[in-house]
Amino acid sequence: MQFETLGIDIRLAKQLAHQAITEPTEIQQKAIPVAITGKDLFAQSKTGSGKTLAFLLPALQRVLKQKALSKRDPRVLIITPTRELANQVFTQLRMLIAGTNLLATKVLGGDNFNEQIKALRKDPQFIVATPGRLADHLKQKSFYLSGLEMLILDEADRMMDLGFKEELQLINTSADHRLRQTLMFSATLEHAELDTLSSNLLNKPKKVIVGSA
Ligand code: ADP
Ligand code: MG
Repeated sequence: MQFETLGIDIRLAKQLAHQAITEPTEIQQKAIPVAITGKDLFAQSKTGSGKTLAFLLPALQRVLKQKALSKRDPRVLIITPTRELANQVFTQLRMLIAGTNLLATKVLGGDNFNEQIKALRKDPQFIVATPGRLADHLKQKSFYLSGLEMLILDEADRMMDLGFKEELQLINTSADHRLRQTLMFSATLEHAELDTLSSNLLNKPKKVIVGSA
């Protein structure tokens, strides 16, 4: 099985091959075709199974293939529970968009707020954020999510553990439901609040569950 077989653009597959990533993992094989159809998705597989590419590839695919709904608003927002995870996701994303005219920005707690506003004014298509700081920007109206096409929640179980329910609710209501696709990824299924989060944020999601955590 190759990435192209899953519907991934040959340019992206070539970028991956430079890093010796040629064969999709199980979660990638199952989640990517669903995400590419534009449906909402809840996906679970254990840590280290390759969830990052399972959401980054469909997101890039969409941005490369479709015209933007809005030229100014971000098209894809990826929320991760911690700075460390956000940095890992951002590094992968930057590798994948190298050589394109696409722009990605990090919006993380602990970094300078005004520098983030400046970066947001450059109209990045992708934002990788932690929930608290992103919610602060939304409250201050530093930018809008009205043109958002994809909302991705990475490590949803940890975000529940860390108590980010309210921030996620604000992000959810700031991004129009009718236009957007939502993908939610989790390493476990155990968290009691995952079901509520999923029914609040996702619209008739397809479920992809790979083994147990
Ligand atoms: P998870 O989010 O499920 O914990 P990651 O997305 O962080 O997993 O991936 C774990 C590691 O596996 C990363 O170093 C990543 O580069 C690598 N990886 C991801 N997909 C593949 C693949 N298809 N082939 C080889 N390595 C991969
Ligand atoms: Mg991960």
